[in-house]
Amino acid sequence: MIKSLITRFWRKGANKDPSVADCIGVKQHGIQLDWVDRHAMDVVKTLQDRGFDAFIVGGAVRDLILGLKPKDFDVATNATPEEVKSAFRRAFIIGKRFRIVHVVFGRGREHEVIEVTTFRANLSSDQAHQVKGNERTSKKDLQHLSHAVDASGRLLRDNVWGEQHEDAARRDFTVNAMYYDPISQEVIDYHGGFADAKKRILRMIGDPAQRYREDPVRIVRALRFSAKFRHLKFKLDPATAKPMSALLPLLEQVPQSRMFDEMLKLLQTGHALASVQVLKDLNMQKGIYPLLDVVVERADMPLVVAALADTDRRVAEGKPVAPSFLLACVLWSDVDTLWRKYRKDQPPQPALMSAMDEVFEWRVGDVSGRGKLAADMREIWAMQSRFERRTASSCMTLVAQPRFRAGFDFMRLRVQAGEVAEDLGQWWETFSLASPEDQQAMIQTMRQQATTRVRSPAAAKPAARSEHAESSGEVATEAPKRRRRRRSPRSAPGPDGSPS
Ligand code: ATP
Ligand code: MG
Repeated sequence: MIKSLITRFWRKGANKDPSVADCIGVKQHGIQLDWVDRHAMDVVKTLQDRGFDAFIVGGAVRDLILGLKPKDFDVATNATPEEVKSAFRRAFIIGKRFRIVHVVFGRGREHEVIEVTTFRANLSSDQAHQVKGNERTSKKDLQHLSHAVDASGRLLRDNVWGEQHEDAARRDFTVNAMYYDPISQEVIDYHGGFADAKKRILRMIGDPAQRYREDPVRIVRALRFSAKFRHLKFKLDPATAKPMSALLPLLEQVPQSRMFDEMLKLLQTGHALASVQVLKDLNMQKGIYPLLDVVVERADMPLVVAALADTDRRVAEGKPVAPSFLLACVLWSDVDTLWRKYRKDQPPQPALMSAMDEVFEWRVGDVSGRGKLAADMREIWAMQSRFERRTASSCMTLVAQPRFRAGFDFMRLRVQAGEVAEDLGQWWETFSLASPEDQQAMIQTMRQQATTRVRSPAAAKPAARSEHAESSGEVATEAPKRRRRRRSPRSAPGPDGSPS
């Protein structure tokens, strides 16, 4: 039925009827069928076999048209969530604001989820129920509503089903609103997304200011796609870019956990450095999300640049990235500053604990998964002082810790940033890869060197360069107590965690 509405010719021009689609054939779009995920194909086929319309939609179609391998595949259909759920063995209806179905394939680490959304109606805010509070304070009212907004017009429930052309109109950018049928190999395009993809334009569908009001996160998405496709020279359409800055305050209403996730998408999907650059280019370095403000403000600090570049590299190599690692790098200077302060009247270890807790509360706050995030960040930070102390017993326990690698990678970035002596990084690299006998031998050698240095202080190596590295590269074995007494008062506890 829906397909019959589609005109089978290709027209250019932005002012066309948005309920009439262009149908683009394989010769024109050139999508390689073997780049389409087989599970997404299965989902489309299963739904079509049951008589529903089903298409691959959104980012995957955009990426395929741009000749990029999509990172995930979403499917859109006219089947309701219940109908989708009943078509698959392992499918789960999730979400409140936006009900969707997760169809799961495989198990464990190898499992894959295909997100299936039902075509949404494109209703205006004045057709929606307006509730007084937000998603938290109006939970009860929202329970039975399928379309609701708050006082500013922000969508709190978006679960009214509609036609495909309505579904297309409520998507964000024209390049994100195309549907691909992998069986017929046709692309269905209501908003000139194909032409915009070719022209490298990121254009909001409809009136941009109104679309940002409905969902202010679209401002962050505009920034994210600008960064993601910066290497392809994508530009924001001027009308899309214009209202963004002025509407930034709307982001304060968005739940913190959603903003936190959006920030991570900016920073952990392979274009962290480009994201920072885009924010600077558009003069939007401040006001999106407090933690992101900190990242951008520190984006020139050697440790933070190294962390952002390292994250991009890892994503490009298909390696996993953890928010705890990047945030530990970004917030390390806060921990360091507070630690110095607290050490004035507390022993180093409790002072470090207090500093870590306070920085986490202050900068990260109440986000989903905060328990694990805090634990992982604390572990990375706490390991730093132990890397520098290198006592015989602690070296062995440290290297055996399950999160040793994260702590060590963090230390390596500190070496790269000039905070820690290079030979210390090298020592740990060798130590972590050595056999237990070789590890014992390394500790023995280190002890002997320390003793020699204690006997002739003049022969001691010069300390590392940065203020963070006050004691980096020096050896604090369990033996040389006399050496501590000989140190000048200036070498009181190192800021990087080395107790005196
Ligand atoms: P990525 O490759 O980064 O995943 P994506 O376009 O697939 O990009 P998703 O967040 O996965 O982004 O969203 C899938 C699709 O859902 C988008 O392409 C867009 O059509 C639609 N969409 C997502 N979020 C919004 C939003 N806030 N407003 C309107 N449409 C949205
Ligand atoms: Mg996606």
